[in-house]
Amino acid sequence: MRIVIAGGGLGGLTCARVLKAHGIDAVVCERDASQDARVQGGTLDLTVDQGQWALREAGLEAGYRAIARPEGQDMVLYDSAGTLLRREIAPEEGEARWGRPEADRPALRKLLLDALPEDTVHWGRTVTRAEPLGDGRHRVHLSGGDILECDFLIGADGARSRIRPLLTDAEPAYCGVHGMGLVIHDADRAHPAASALVGRGSFSALGEQRTLSAQRNGDGTIRVHLALRCGEDWPETSGIPFDDPDRARAALKELYAGWPAEFLALLDATSGPISVYPLTALPIGLRWDPTPGVTLIGDAAHLMSPFAGQGANLAMRDGADLALVLAEGGDVRKFEQAMFERAEPAAQMSADNLELFLSDGAAEKVRHLFATMSGEE
Ligand SMILES: Cc1cc2nc3c(=O)[nH]c(=O)nc-3n(C[C@H](O)[C@H](O)[C@H](O)COP(=O)(O)OP(=O)(O)OC[C@H]3O[C@@H](n4cnc5c(N)ncnc54)[C@H](O)[C@@H]3O)c2cc1C
Repeated sequence: MRIVIAGGGLGGLTCARVLKAHGIDAVVCERDASQDARVQGGTLDLTVDQGQWALREAGLEAGYRAIARPEGQDMVLYDSAGTLLRREIAPEEGEARWGRPEADRPALRKLLLDALPEDTVHWGRTVTRAEPLGDGRHRVHLSGGDILECDFLIGADGARSRIRPLLTDAEPAYCGVHGMGLVIHDADRAHPAASALVGRGSFSALGEQRTLSAQRNGDGTIRVHLALRCGEDWPETSGIPFDDPDRARAALKELYAGWPAEFLALLDATSGPISVYPLTALPIGLRWDPTPGVTLIGDAAHLMSPFAGQGANLAMRDGADLALVLAEGGDVRKFEQAMFERAEPAAQMSADNLELFLSDGAAEKVRHLFATMSGEE
């Protein structure tokens, strides 16, 4: 059986690796020109029953523990007046330490790539579309005019999947919020105050319809994220010169006028380009009719805003689950049903959390949510 996976993100690579662990080769067509062609984003916390489960199925649990940072589970939550509302310290020992450790996304991707034969991922191969051949097989069109034919096609190509149209007309819609990402380099040495504020894990401050957060990564950087409730065309209409990062940084601080100076100093400590991205999501509970020879995993199937921190976990779980079903000659429809049932509550939580974190008076509501989740209230 010839399997083609469109997209070599965490979902597609996990799928390829679990297939390989069962003796099945797959071809991964990845748009990026190489492993390092694009900044892969910050740190991810993998849960025991999703991301970590998938890595166990991939035979990579030990490798994962070597790159994971349990202490990254430390967190502090502030309101925009600078009041500390909650502090959590990661357990120092025992299995609880491995509940939801952080790991850098590039390190995770490398862990998976190193465990695959070198010719599995075809870099710089953008899938432009795919068409059914009528017998469950598909023809995959690549940029440059090449084609591949396969017995099973997996769309793991993220938010703007080129495989999704084979299964559904659904498209991602804007969630009413833009995110912005900035980086503090060499944090401990060059920016000790920012480093101390963020500590070993994450810092969040919530104001009226906007958030400021920062997360320590394993490579000496701290990634600063802003989220702002705004119109879809805000980057163009805001007047903020995002192509001139220094002026843009100053303008962004205006959006947080009145917040504690030590919080805004996090922005001053950043350097380099600012990434600005709209948060988009597929309809909650999206399903499609079974279609022979093709399915979707990860964001391609159930894109959601990052406010529940589950997207990468789900993508990896989907990838491993699907690989096991294919390896056992099982029913892909059953895999899809399980994926739909797993994704729907996560997507709902993600949408609910987005509303909560970007609401007026968010800080107290989120403090209460965390206290309730940990059984304290
Ligand atoms: C700011 C932010 C923070 C997040 N934090 C978390 C978190 O803490 N925990 C968590 O679980 N999730 C988090 N997520 C969500 C998570 O990043 C995604 O859900 C996850 O990356 C989805 O994995 P994927 O493999 O399905 O898709 P992707 O990671 O998007 O990978 C898709 C791959 O396909 C490639 N591709 C795209 N189009 C094509 C094409 N046409 N042809 C060939 N290749 C193509 C891309 O280059 C990419 O490599 C966060 C997301 C954001 C934006």
